[in-house]
Amino acid sequence: MRYESVVQVRGLVKRYGAKTAVDGLDLDVRAGTVTAVLGPNGAGKTTTVETCEGYRRPDAGAVRVLGLDPVADAARLRPRIGVMLQSGGVYSGARAGEMLRHMAKLHAHPLDVAMLVERLGLGSCGRTPYRRLSGGQQQRLALAMAVVGRPELVFLDEPTAGLDPQARRATWELVRELRADGVSTVLTTHFMDEAEQLADDVAVVDAGRVIAQGSPEELCRGGAENTLRFSGRPGLDLGALLKALPDGTAAAELSAGVYRISGTIDPQLLATVTSWCAQAGVMPDALSVERRTLEDVFLELTGKELRS
Ligand code: ATP
Repeated sequence: MRYESVVQVRGLVKRYGAKTAVDGLDLDVRAGTVTAVLGPNGAGKTTTVETCEGYRRPDAGAVRVLGLDPVADAARLRPRIGVMLQSGGVYSGARAGEMLRHMAKLHAHPLDVAMLVERLGLGSCGRTPYRRLSGGQQQRLALAMAVVGRPELVFLDEPTAGLDPQARRATWELVRELRADGVSTVLTTHFMDEAEQLADDVAVVDAGRVIAQGSPEELCRGGAENTLRFSGRPGLDLGALLKALPDGTAAAELSAGVYRISGTIDPQLLATVTSWCAQAGVMPDALSVERRTLEDVFLELTGKELRS
């Protein structure tokens, strides 16, 4: 059975004592897509996915995963989802290879264990007890365990935090392949490049709420702010240029002869800048319009840096 939303969260509230970790959060995950829940530390990302996984009960609101209630229908849901927790959940004396093979046997159509071991660079860890694996190896093993059963839906909590660039790329590649196989993925991250690289949809979370949701392109295009950069002769009279530009536009000489114009960079503004340069006898070299990044979007929405 196909669902339009494989995860549907409505008005989720979760408190830990006096602390409200999730504060009326709504989230939809479309089937067959990768959704990134992006936000700074403490935003409520882990609490949200753990509630979807059935490990926490909502204090208010409703959560449906593959059309089921993650707590009441846990026995039916668990075999259909893959879960990579941020840490723990594994018996520390078990050997990596045994655990993975055991996990594979619990499922009807598992992925090829040898292929996964190879892909995630776990070849040397087969006989090593879990507690003796490095942090990065434990994380890659957790990822392998989450996906080996060929689940319909995978939850990955900060899958690449602390990984070296090679392991990070291997993880991204695996997520892309799962997607190509029709698997839906929900991942939490505070790396905006991870969200930009992998996600079809991004839910930007802050203080327990989704403050924006859309594709990376939609989110970055959504606002007016863009940046125009060019190089030219040092010491151009930016005050004179600004008089020709709309209110709210800013201009700066970042270093000698390197200029940045910020604001609503539309074709009209571009024409005004280039014709002003022409009148001043300046060739605007290396002229580029840069779109906002998710980091900029987050800063605009919250006034905070993503990694604060
Ligand atoms: P991180 O990126 O650091 O994992 P997060 O966005 O996943 O952060 P959560 O782990 O869901 O955020 O935490 C949200 C808030 O709830 C934080 O302020 C955190 O300190 C608090 N919190 C989380 N788990 C507990 C708990 N078991 N008891 C008390 N407070 C908790």
